[in-house]
Amino acid sequence: MTVQQGKIGIQTENIFPIIKKFLYSDHEIFLRELVSNAVDATQKLKTLASMGKVKDELGDLTIHVEIDKKKRTLTVRDRGIGMTADEVDKYINQIAFSSAEEFVKKFKTKTEAEKNAIIGHFGLGFYSAFMVSEKVEIRTKTYKKGGSTKAVRWECDGSPEYVMEETDKKDRGTEVILTIDKENSDFLEEYRINELLNKYCKFLPVPIQFGMETIHEPIEGEKDKDGNQKTKEVQKPKIINNPDPLWKKAPSDATEEEYKAFYKELYPYTFEEPLFQIHLNVDYPFNLTGILYFPKLKKDYELQRNKIQLYSNQVFVTDSVEGIVPEFLTLLHGVIDSPDIPLNVSRSYLQSDKNVKKISNYITRKVADKLTEIFKNDRKGFEEKWDDIKIFIEYGMISEPKFYEKAEKFVLLKNTEGKYFTFDEYKKQIEKTQENKDKKLVYLYATNEDEQYSYIRNAKERGYDVLIMNGVLDPHFINTLEQKLTDVVFARVDSNTIDKLIVKEDEAPSKLDDKQKEALKKAFERNIDTKQFEVNFENLSETDIPVTIIQNEFMRRMKDMEAIGGSPMMGMGGLPDTYSLVVNTNHKLVNKIVDVEDEQKQDQLIEQLYDLARLSKNLLKGKELDEFVKRSINMVD
Ligand code: ADP
Repeated sequence: MTVQQGKIGIQTENIFPIIKKFLYSDHEIFLRELVSNAVDATQKLKTLASMGKVKDELGDLTIHVEIDKKKRTLTVRDRGIGMTADEVDKYINQIAFSSAEEFVKKFKTKTEAEKNAIIGHFGLGFYSAFMVSEKVEIRTKTYKKGGSTKAVRWECDGSPEYVMEETDKKDRGTEVILTIDKENSDFLEEYRINELLNKYCKFLPVPIQFGMETIHEPIEGEKDKDGNQKTKEVQKPKIINNPDPLWKKAPSDATEEEYKAFYKELYPYTFEEPLFQIHLNVDYPFNLTGILYFPKLKKDYELQRNKIQLYSNQVFVTDSVEGIVPEFLTLLHGVIDSPDIPLNVSRSYLQSDKNVKKISNYITRKVADKLTEIFKNDRKGFEEKWDDIKIFIEYGMISEPKFYEKAEKFVLLKNTEGKYFTFDEYKKQIEKTQENKDKKLVYLYATNEDEQYSYIRNAKERGYDVLIMNGVLDPHFINTLEQKLTDVVFARVDSNTIDKLIVKEDEAPSKLDDKQKEALKKAFERNIDTKQFEVNFENLSETDIPVTIIQNEFMRRMKDMEAIGGSPMMGMGGLPDTYSLVVNTNHKLVNKIVDVEDEQKQDQLIEQLYDLARLSKNLLKGKELDEFVKRSINMVD
């Protein structure tokens, strides 16, 4: 073969300007593309060898990545199948056969936003090298024997012209040598290449060597004075990847220790251990493997989001799986590996893709099945994990009807005594006692056991049960449950007096007549902040407290929703906090106040009751609290 010169991709237009137009931040993917090609070539060789089609010994198949700062070169070298001159001509020169052409076509028709979405993903292949190089050289020798199987050198400087000639390469395989251009000098730095290999190539199936590492090797027969084996430091070639990641193993062969160790491998900077994991493994109707971990979620769970890494045949693609798994599953950690997820398309397209929908449903089902299994086989263990997985399950139930259907059988409600109930169990528990006049079951709940202490005690004294609903998502969750569970209403213990929350029989008669009530109302309104409090009378029992504060369930929920975002009143400038001051017409202190003739004395008594009610609701603060304390001391005196 003599020197051959020609134009790249004669049938297509010049692709170089399009390649050069890429965003700087995405230049780095060139390394993934080149190493992936080297891996493919190596895997192909192995397959051919297993069919008895390779004459040579396979030998060491490690892929090498090297940098030479002086020459400004970065080299990726494999011992895979290599290429003949004809193959270089076909696969490299006529880019119609490579993924570059398809990519360029796609790239042209996309909007700016879509371009950005596809850049990081697959598509460009070998030609991505030109994003960072002023010159690219290929030296390759095929595994084939005889005929025109001499080694080939190919070179191109980023213009459509290339040069191709015979060369003297002895070893089988391909070497791609990039001369890095001035703007991309960082790809000549060891730390940068390390970082990229770690990001994109960590789990590629062929060993990849880059740089050296220090190993402490034992010195034979030598011990120190304490009798310990002496070691010496030696430099060894460093393999940067784990070619057999755990998710590729059959789930039945993997141990708990291996799952824990793999979690550390994925997240070296996390100290927390995962709660449990799900090993995914299907090959029909789509191919998908992976391991999903349930992490211990923190309050600021947003920070722990988007930790799932997406791979395609062990090549890292992205750590944002949005659109591929339902939103609530983005709280999980781990790895999903599937060649069946279309990667070089936009997110909006992804969501409508049939395969992606199937995958999303499959993962949701697997997660629900795993939770069902733990619940059934180890109820105690499930309860122990509950506080950590609650947010996740509630999130799923709120946002995914399919998940709700499965989860309603294992989701737990926790009461203020720390007991856990399934929906069915809880219904049975309170059926006889907490039904109101409208035949609805009233689920009493507290959001803060300290602040709502007296209300909880009150409910318990009536023999009622109180749930604890203090999770971040609970306000939403309660709304969902009221829609799904028939004949159930939720009421926070302080949203009304307990006998109004669960109305049993008709109200007891009042000891005060209408005239007395009117006078009393005026007296109260004289002493309280009427913007914040509305005075109401109720004929409670003599043993109930004289004055108590309640906050309407509906209004409070609106406020809660506003606080976590997503209220219909959002943006209308904060809802006011309004309460109702309930005066027990049957309490002897209240009756006494009515009879006090001295207005000043009457005011003093009302003030005291008002402050006590506010105090027990944590609403008495600052100057008013100070005055209350002083006044109380005087009274004791
Ligand atoms: P893709 O890998 O998606 O097919 P590329 O543009 O990356 O597209 O590569 C085009 C073709 O060039 C490959 O399909 C392969 O036949 C050949 N090729 C690229 N790199 C190598 C390599 N390291 N060893 C052998 N063949 C290679």
